[in-house]
Amino acid sequence: MQLQSKLPNVGTTIFTVMSALANEYKAVNLGQGFPDFPMSHELTGLVNEAMQNNFNQYAPMPGWMPLREAIAEKAEFLYAANINPDTEITITPGGTYAIYSSLTAILQPGDEVIVFEPAYDSYIPNIEINGAKAVTVDLVYPGYHIDWQAVKKAVTAKTKAIIINSPHNPTGSVISENDIQELRKITEGTNIFIISDEVYEHLIFDHIPHQSMLRYPDLLQRSFVCFSFGKTYNCTGWKLGYCIAPAALTKEFRKVHQYNCFSCFTPSQVALATFLKNKDAYLSLSSFIQEKRDYFKQLMQSTKFSLKDSYGSYFICGTYERISEEGDKAFAIRLTKEAGVATIPVSAFYQNGKDDKVLRFCFSKNKETLEAAVEKLALFK
Ligand code: PMP
Ligand code: GLN
Repeated sequence: MQLQSKLPNVGTTIFTVMSALANEYKAVNLGQGFPDFPMSHELTGLVNEAMQNNFNQYAPMPGWMPLREAIAEKAEFLYAANINPDTEITITPGGTYAIYSSLTAILQPGDEVIVFEPAYDSYIPNIEINGAKAVTVDLVYPGYHIDWQAVKKAVTAKTKAIIINSPHNPTGSVISENDIQELRKITEGTNIFIISDEVYEHLIFDHIPHQSMLRYPDLLQRSFVCFSFGKTYNCTGWKLGYCIAPAALTKEFRKVHQYNCFSCFTPSQVALATFLKNKDAYLSLSSFIQEKRDYFKQLMQSTKFSLKDSYGSYFICGTYERISEEGDKAFAIRLTKEAGVATIPVSAFYQNGKDDKVLRFCFSKNKETLEAAVEKLALFK
């Protein structure tokens, strides 16, 4: 059979590659972003209960209504947002799917989308499969903040959307109120949509407020705001999330969603409708994960790696210039094989492979895992 690839430049994702290598070499896996500690037993109990109570048939296409209502209440409580659960919230099988569906709902062939690099690796293929073009703007190294002058230059008549991701994967940088002002200046009076990837909404440290698009009605009117329960409740394997967007945008989003997934796993939606009311469960996440960041930073002082700052997400980046001058991919592979610690080379998050010789470490792990990893890293000279 002849097949013309729709994504000719795409290979296997770096997360799969590094996790496979970690398994092969029995390395401690600080690569792919997932916790190795258990999720809430109360929440797994609620899912079990939902299944026992026969909530096992299709949920409505936009999602289980009590869950959407609980999400609307949470948006009001956290961001003073007035969200209609009927017309503005759609439950999705994960945050990645929400981003894909948003892009698919709005993009026409030839459109341009502004993407900041390093970028979470699904964005650009999601744009290209829709026949549109990613216009990349580098975050400014080493702090990875947004250069708004560069964004201004990247905007053209074809710019259909801009993707914002805060807290940011892979760098742990976060946007500030000033970034919101700049985003406002650039989009005001245009037809540019915002795709806001806020899957790390509750993983933000040092008491920094999360700059959700939900806080800003003028920005929200042009936004698809994407979330992931996998990140909020330490269950990345659940692949459940949601998209909040104004009714007219949600209408188009659901046209894509209803013929792709139609509806998501019912028992976890029923369980989350109850569990989401427990504010402490999501509010306590920041300090819980921040402790891990701080512990990892402290442990890493015994190594020759130099860590950068991380203000959110599961991740912190670090350089290895005191150990080697190798490229980051070669170094990450050697580190997995020889030191027994898997990481992610940050060049994988750049379309052109830009290599600042930086690795991404996932610190959302048990203390013992972090200790075992750093013991190995300290011996690697
Ligand atoms: N965006 C970013 C930046 C992420 O790191 C992730 C985590 N994989 C996602 C989206 C997707 O989340 P999910 O697993 O719910 O699809
Ligand atoms: N978001 C996770 C990461 O950045 C992994 C997601 C995936 O494996 N696709 O590591």
